[in-house]
Amino acid sequence: MYKGIAGSDGIGIGNAALIKEQEIKYEQNSALSAEEETARFDAAVDELIKKTDAMAEEMRANVGEKEAEILMGHSLMLSDPAMTDEVRGIIAGGLTSEAAAEQVFETFAAMFEATGDELTMQRAADLRDVKSGIIKTLQGVRDVDIKSLPKGSVIVVNDLTPSMTAGINKDNIAGIVTETGGRTSHSAILARALEIPAVLSVEGVTGMIADGSRIIVDGTRGEVITGPDEKTEAEYAEKKAEFDKCRKELEKLIGKPTVTADGTKVELVCNIGKPDDCAAVLEKDGEGVGLFRTEFLYMDTDEKPGEEQQFEAYRKAAMTLKGKPVIIRTLDVGGDKDIPYLGLEKEENPFMGFRAVRYCLENKELYRDQLRALLRASAFGDIKIMVPLVTCVEEVRQAKALIKEIMAELDREGVEYNKDIKIGIMAETPAAAAIADLLAEEADFFSIGTNDLTGYTMAVDRGNAKVAYLYSAYQPAVLRNIKRIIECGKQKGIMVGMCGEAAADPLLIPLLISFGLDEFSVSPTSVLATRDIIGKWSKAEADKVAEEAMNCATESEVKALLEARRK
Ligand code: PEP
Ligand code: MG
Repeated sequence: MYKGIAGSDGIGIGNAALIKEQEIKYEQNSALSAEEETARFDAAVDELIKKTDAMAEEMRANVGEKEAEILMGHSLMLSDPAMTDEVRGIIAGGLTSEAAAEQVFETFAAMFEATGDELTMQRAADLRDVKSGIIKTLQGVRDVDIKSLPKGSVIVVNDLTPSMTAGINKDNIAGIVTETGGRTSHSAILARALEIPAVLSVEGVTGMIADGSRIIVDGTRGEVITGPDEKTEAEYAEKKAEFDKCRKELEKLIGKPTVTADGTKVELVCNIGKPDDCAAVLEKDGEGVGLFRTEFLYMDTDEKPGEEQQFEAYRKAAMTLKGKPVIIRTLDVGGDKDIPYLGLEKEENPFMGFRAVRYCLENKELYRDQLRALLRASAFGDIKIMVPLVTCVEEVRQAKALIKEIMAELDREGVEYNKDIKIGIMAETPAAAAIADLLAEEADFFSIGTNDLTGYTMAVDRGNAKVAYLYSAYQPAVLRNIKRIIECGKQKGIMVGMCGEAAADPLLIPLLISFGLDEFSVSPTSVLATRDIIGKWSKAEADKVAEEAMNCATESEVKALLEARRK
């Protein structure tokens, strides 16, 4: 058995389709004139752009917008003169197009890779995918056609590049095993979107598995079993049937309300990063959006998105969700969310530094653009504004004052907006928990950000493996903060939601029901499972477990108790 990263849930059983990239050999120095070589390069780029655009269209139709965007990104790279001019410059020095492309794209890829940042590193993989596309086009080498693999194929590959997967036939692919890539790699995103079980980062796997051999992929546990005996295969077939049955059964919950076992209705909404994610919200029957992380609008470009561009994005989200609530968080920059062109200074403790609402209130022009866009978009749906990382009352008052100013401006201009727009805050710092009673006087709603609340409460840097054992929402200190925030919000009669990862944790759901959480905001793929678990608990039962859990003295006691009471 081989261990890897659990990339996409489920069990896949089939025959290995081993995909080995052909080694391509080419000359370094061109026998052609620089003009002829450049023309060869330009023709290859044109051909590849056309092919990539066509693949993106196919991806859009068969998989989804988000996946198509990855390929559109490749097309943009191919049209980017910063890259191609550099290649042409090297060709002018006498090299072949292949050698020049290799040199330029590899230099950029190595630079991106050295950052150590997962998202930037992912761009390095994209650059290499584009580079190999150019070289293959120049050499007339065709890509592996995954589309034509027979039913029951388990793809075993170094990395599943977006260009390989265009038009992937979900019915024929039983599983995916890769040698590289983590949970946020394109392979993982694609596998989850298609609901194909996947195990990633299995070291040396392409050298260990024979093409056509029997293979089992356990994408939930991150395990790969090769050459299983009859008994093992039968066991896994049973597990697979059980998993598929559960997934299918969850689909019955589509269109059903989210209610506890004793009939209390709660809201079950989604976390998104882009307006296009709203399609997945609707598909998985999310009841709206509880957290729109607007950083992605800023991260995906090389310069600030202006008011107009943001307005279009927010309006699109509101209109796609046709009147369902959409909570949009204002820019949360800093800490782990760097946006290079904003020129944030390097700080000793970036998580405790100049970030989120602190940055926005000091950079009023930037904040204004976003708030104006949000207010204008509020005329097109049920948009609510949420302010991140609040630690004191002044921050809420200042943000509200700025919003009021912009409202007066829009009134003067005769621009429509929702005059009764709700303004809430993320409760994600111990300070916010401590003054939750005071903040509840100022905010229209709370949304608990357990990702940050856990880190700040426990004084733990998530990236530091030495203290990772402290980073847990089951810590009594974190649970007390969560409980207090919910209670203070309820006392003042405002809506309290949760958009951190803990909202989708099946073990914590009874506690959240007991504390009185009104709204759970989870990733679209977690909606149905969360609805299912909420429906299993009555308030009285949840209260019993919550009382026991709040009497536990340690994280491991809490966890063991919740495991024992799990439904
Ligand atoms: C959180 O902190 O829990 C949260 C939802 O926000 P983010 O993960 O974007 O910081
Ligand atoms: Mg946060």
